[in-house]
Amino acid sequence: MILYPSGNGVMVDAGRKIVVDGARRVKGAIHVVTHAHWDHLGAVRRGGGFSNIETAEILRKRGIEVEGVEGMEVGEVEVRFLNAGHIVGSSQVLLLNGKDVLITGDFKVEDDVVVRGADVENVDVLVMDTTFSVPYFRFPSRRTLYRQLKSFLREHLSQGRSVVLFGYAVGKAQELTGFLNTLGMKPYVLPETHAVNALFGLEDRVAHSVRNEPAVYILPPRFKKVLDALSFQTGVPFVGLFASGWNPELPLSSHADWYQTVKYVESVSPELVVTYGQHAEASAKFLKAEGFDAVPLRNGLFV
Ligand SMILES: [Zn+2]
Repeated sequence: MILYPSGNGVMVDAGRKIVVDGARRVKGAIHVVTHAHWDHLGAVRRGGGFSNIETAEILRKRGIEVEGVEGMEVGEVEVRFLNAGHIVGSSQVLLLNGKDVLITGDFKVEDDVVVRGADVENVDVLVMDTTFSVPYFRFPSRRTLYRQLKSFLREHLSQGRSVVLFGYAVGKAQELTGFLNTLGMKPYVLPETHAVNALFGLEDRVAHSVRNEPAVYILPPRFKKVLDALSFQTGVPFVGLFASGWNPELPLSSHADWYQTVKYVESVSPELVVTYGQHAEASAKFLKAEGFDAVPLRNGLFV
């Protein structure tokens, strides 16, 4: 098989071309998407493709049609989906064709309240997203972060403030809703978040307007700019918190950090790791220093 970078993803040429998370259509290729984050949907938004069944259901709620399948044959290659642990519905793509190749897509190793950590499969070649896979990223455990989030909520609600947790409609919003549900709370959310929450049995309330009493909301990050306006309109002080691997205040990440990445690679135990996405070059270098055979993805990489 020959590998190429393609948008936020990878193209595999195995006689027939398979594009995973590509940004653009490739003529004659089969297009596959690993999960419903917007920056992975470029190619499938322009002409459809395939995903696992859960992601297809989520995308349908967002007006994007892909075919949900458990697996498929593309020429000589058998394609299977494994859980990626990144967000609801997310998958890794396993290609079986003499040599077994696993493309992680965005992945997370740790379990969270709604998603199990990534499945491990022993393969020959691991093609791995490296968004946070360099040694300066070490995230606290979910346990610690959930405890921190709980005290943030308690502190502000007890003082009569409304709390906005920022999260995209698909992904972080489900984890945050699931976490609030474990505390017996139902957040106010936008209809697009509710549509996805409902698929996974998560409990929320659709916010048709802002409340004049302290409440908990999960809203997309664009609402950051209007928190002061909401406080002004309701007379209730609003505080916000962005739960993201990029926010050191609450690095609730949907990706593996460096230390989890190393453990994951050890478990998969591949002959070769091909890194792609953010930090791909640096990550390959650090993985080599750990004793793994690793190269960054480049055009025409033969595996
Ligand atoms: Zn993602």
